Amino acid sequence: MGRKISTACVQGGYEPKDGEARVLPIIQSTTYKYNSADTMGKLFDLEEDGFFYTRLANPTLDAVERKIAELEGGVGAMLTSSGQAASMMSVTNICHAGDHVVCASAIYGGTFNLFNKTLRELGIDFTFVNPTASEDELMAAFKDNTRAVFTESLANPSLVVTDIEMYARCAHAHNVPLIVDNTFPTPINCRPFEFGADIVVHSTTKYMDGHAVALGGVIVDSGKFDWKKGGYTMLTEPDETYHGVVYTEMFGNMAYIVKARTHLMRDMGAQAAPMNAFLLNLGLETLHLRVPRHCENAAVLAEFLENNDKIEWVNYPGLKSSEYYELAQKYMPNGSSGVISFGVKGGRDAAAKLMESLKLAAMVIHVADARTSVLHPASTTHRQMSDEQLADCGISPNMIRLSVGIEDIDDILDDFKQALEKI
Ligand SMILES: *Cc1c(COP(=O)(O)O)cnc(C)c1O
Repeated sequence: MGRKISTACVQGGYEPKDGEARVLPIIQSTTYKYNSADTMGKLFDLEEDGFFYTRLANPTLDAVERKIAELEGGVGAMLTSSGQAASMMSVTNICHAGDHVVCASAIYGGTFNLFNKTLRELGIDFTFVNPTASEDELMAAFKDNTRAVFTESLANPSLVVTDIEMYARCAHAHNVPLIVDNTFPTPINCRPFEFGADIVVHSTTKYMDGHAVALGGVIVDSGKFDWKKGGYTMLTEPDETYHGVVYTEMFGNMAYIVKARTHLMRDMGAQAAPMNAFLLNLGLETLHLRVPRHCENAAVLAEFLENNDKIEWVNYPGLKSSEYYELAQKYMPNGSSGVISFGVKGGRDAAAKLMESLKLAAMVIHVADARTSVLHPASTTHRQMSDEQLADCGISPNMIRLSVGIEDIDDILDDFKQALEKI
């Protein structure tokens, strides 16, 4: 990769020819016209590259996919309708009923449900490993039928930082790929392929979009994993639905991502909309400016909260007091993300009161967009649970999840100061 990541954010993926639109156009069309039946036939047999139906590929999506592949340093990418669809397809592209996946337990709740219930019901087995697992414990989680390892670079919402190199070592020792959900740090702060990850997924709904306007997801292929050595027959043996195409032979180091598109996207259909890809691209054009600002503001606020005597604890990987400080320095030295969690003295009621007293910071379920927002899991997303049940999920009754935005830090601080005075 020659150019810098900031330039790729602004200009990646789309290079207009003479007289074409300077801004990536929204190609709002499901179909594409051809003059020859022969050309269309070749497209269907994957012998030629081109657009024929938007469920498989669309020029607006294609440009954004190229941009994100460049940002992560991968060989190819595929946009999906949501982050959930990206996680689902990243696994089901290479795991079938009877297969097993080793997965970090500190992952996004939606991903946990997808894996632990829905994919289990489809016959894929999972072993969840604790964030504090040592290399030996991680190695012990593998079985003969393990086909993938899944983790988040920076977990939502626990903010656990994964030792990506250790995960990659264990995965590769068993000839299976490491899939990393890199949603929170984004490629601006962490590039998992540089530490041995093989596949990266994102919920683009968060910082990549950055404005909370469009759901989306993406899968990125590093092109580095050797599918033949791992015995992934779905990639190394003929696919009868494409006249016997063998992905590794026909597409080389893009076998995984081409199969995800031509097989899974064709059959399951969780395609991103061209309009959403356009909006995502607008977000990506300023990702390199927004992410550092989120981190700068979060670092100031985390330190302020840590020094406030109405606050019981603060969890932010950039704080020296964090048990993930060292790992964060290694894997995301320029900052982790704008997300902080903290506990208010006085329990559930004090936390709820603080939340209600905030004016600039809004109460929303979303995280990771331009506006500062807060969520009190005990009185919202997890309100049906007792304090003991909350503890089992790693959530304390006084915990507030704070997503620091890109407003002026003085105004954010003032908002927290006035709200803290009310409790
Ligand atoms: C939000 C989120 C997802 C799910 O993404 P959606 O776009 O909401 O489907 C997956 N992983 C992480 C880390 C997330 O934060």
